[in-house]
Amino acid sequence: MTAPDTYTRRGLLVVLSSPSGAGKSTISRLLLEQDKSLSLSISVTTRKRRASEVEGVHYHFVTMRDFELMRDRGELLEWAEVHGNCYGTPRDPVEKALSSGRDVLFDIDWQGASQLQAAMPDDLVSIFVLPPSGAELHSRLVRRAEDDEATILRRLRNAREELTHYTEYDYVIVNDELQSALASVGAILAAERVRRRRLNGLDRFVASVSDALVTDGTEKVSD
Ligand code: ADP
Ligand code: 5GP
Repeated sequence: MTAPDTYTRRGLLVVLSSPSGAGKSTISRLLLEQDKSLSLSISVTTRKRRASEVEGVHYHFVTMRDFELMRDRGELLEWAEVHGNCYGTPRDPVEKALSSGRDVLFDIDWQGASQLQAAMPDDLVSIFVLPPSGAELHSRLVRRAEDDEATILRRLRNAREELTHYTEYDYVIVNDELQSALASVGAILAAERVRRRRLNGLDRFVASVSDALVTDGTEKVSD
């Protein structure tokens, strides 16, 4: 018996965006724990590190000068200014992950999502996370207790504009009950991984299944 032909899949770029505090980092963290074929794209940022954040895990924290150097050398796949700081996606790790067959998760804003959409439309799956209400968004930002009052206010003011961009995304989920939001993201990923246009070598695989079919009552002997 020869082994049947098999097929491969193109890597996915999965983008999660939301107004600050809606829960995309929480969903990302849980998703990465349960899905080992997913890698997180770690952004560079000029924002100050929060107490709970670890260099190289949550972000690469860089100076404005270093950020500009990376940007000008073309080392960023996309970048944007968000809430008064610069954020960008290093190109190299994403390309390496995709070429080794891994899917990549991005926690980036709508400006970054739209740049990735323009650059890699066939590989992108975009998900917008909504809070269940404005009041809950406010209390999540306060409960997170990572930002000072002025920063929280600035993020809430920006939320109104960010919310208008939900129309640019493939999927929209409301992060009310966390486990249910996580299950929705998992279901989207599972479905997107079996989209026909992402599967390479399917013709040969189907032909090999078809060739091996026994249709005349005698057992097929493969060569
Ligand atoms: P974002 O990454 O979108 O800015 P976070 O993931 O940091 O948001 O979440 C903001 C706060 O809300 C955190 O304290 C987090 O624990 C909390 N949170 C996230 N999802 C939920 C949820 N479904 N229900 C209640 N609290 C949540
Ligand atoms: P935070 O400061 O709360 O970590 O992130 C603020 C915003 O910047 C969030 O909307 C987050 O998704 C976005 N962001 C983080 N990294 C990147 C990035 O590399 N590119 C873009 N465009 N946005 C990013």
